[in-house]
Amino acid sequence: KEGVYLEIQTTLYDKNDHLIFIRDVTRLHLLEQMRKDFVANASHELKTPLTVIKGYLETLDMFKDSLPKSMQKGIVNMSEQSERMEQLIEDLLLLSRLESNDKREENQWHTVSGIVQAITSSTMPILTDEHSLTLDIPDNARLYGSYKELYSAFSNLIVNAIKYSPDGGDITIKWEANQANGVFSVKDTGIGIDPRHIPRLTERFFRVDKGRGSKTGGTGLGLAIVKHVLLHHDAKLQIHSQPGTGSVFSCHFPTSRTRTDDIPAQITSV
Ligand code: ADP
Repeated sequence: KEGVYLEIQTTLYDKNDHLIFIRDVTRLHLLEQMRKDFVANASHELKTPLTVIKGYLETLDMFKDSLPKSMQKGIVNMSEQSERMEQLIEDLLLLSRLESNDKREENQWHTVSGIVQAITSSTMPILTDEHSLTLDIPDNARLYGSYKELYSAFSNLIVNAIKYSPDGGDITIKWEANQANGVFSVKDTGIGIDPRHIPRLTERFFRVDKGRGSKTGGTGLGLAIVKHVLLHHDAKLQIHSQPGTGSVFSCHFPTSRTRTDDIPAQITSV
């Protein structure tokens, strides 16, 4: 029947017999859909009032020199918080789109170095003199997928590597291809993560240090976005980390989505 969702599970009962469990999950499915719609609509509705608030803040900012010091501080604070809120709304909307599979960009071949260079030029402002950035990506490595989605996944990993290396350190962005996978990885020598937190990192709003968000400007949605983008690209995320030593986040893409452009010259026999 249309609109009915069933979950089917089979287990081996004895040698030749199987048990089949059929569960009607229509109600669960509807609730999940309602949750997704609610998040998408609420985020969308929050955009308009925020645009108005930001507009007035920009006007206030122009006249800030004529205001008392305490108000000037207030304006800076409100501007920072509204930027944060805007980022949160953008991330929620992006997650909703990724979950609903709506309006997806057509998949195409992109150079990995092209995506990474676009990201690193926009993340330059948050790099400090104590950070060193190494790119180890062959020019001919290509990846098949959505540019916008891959950009946001890789960008979240790169920005995290910088954010969670507050004392600086080496950040290495690498592409390696083997027979089974093309692997994009971001390695840092930052604060690292306790192994018991690793399984929960891709949950929405999960943060190891709950108080850190307001300091680092994170939304807690970055790795949830990474997880969904990778799901769309048949890829898997692996996380290796040690507290105090650093982390490696690697995305493993199947070979069907990767290629190098070293196509050997055609040999034509005369
Ligand atoms: P946030 O916006 O808080 O950075 P993310 O979803 O991107 O949210 O990451 C979730 C949590 O995972 C972070 O709050 C942080 O505790 C941890 N984390 C992510 N990347 C790193 C990293 N490179 N080093 C240490 N911790 C990290």
